[in-house]
Amino acid sequence: MATIFSKIIAGEIPSYKIAENDKFFAFLDINPMAKGHTLVVPKQETDYIFDLDDQLLGEMAVFAKKVAAGIEAVIPCNRVGVMVLGLEVPHAHIHLIPIRKETDMSLANPRVKLSKEEFEEIAEKIRGKIDLISF
Ligand code: 5GP
Repeated sequence: MATIFSKIIAGEIPSYKIAENDKFFAFLDINPMAKGHTLVVPKQETDYIFDLDDQLLGEMAVFAKKVAAGIEAVIPCNRVGVMVLGLEVPHAHIHLIPIRKETDMSLANPRVKLSKEEFEEIAEKIRGKIDLISF
């Protein structure tokens, strides 16, 4: 059965899309730890990120780097934190989280509540910056 992320990639479930190429898809996390919290997912359905082959894993890191540059251009932060858990959704993904301090990455923090309009505005702004960066 397709994972929820495969359904998002296929457009069967809506998402606030940030970027896409032939191998990867990036979209806003629906339950964000910070404004701009983005997930980067390979289109290939693999549960554990370290089961991806070396080539694809490397390309995923480069794709995530470009997405992170777009996030940094829009969300005031000191850097974009990178996290991999994969305990909830069995489809490899990298969390990109704009942070100001170490504790901003704590899973114990309350999640940020955003309206549909706020999600759309953030996604549009980040997309606008990423368009300037060649994929
Ligand atoms: P993990 O598998 O890394 O523990 O967490 C999965 C992440 O995916 C969580 O941060 C959760 O908010 C996010 N997530 C789960 N389902 C959806 C969904 O349907 N849409 C979006 N945009 N994010 C989701």
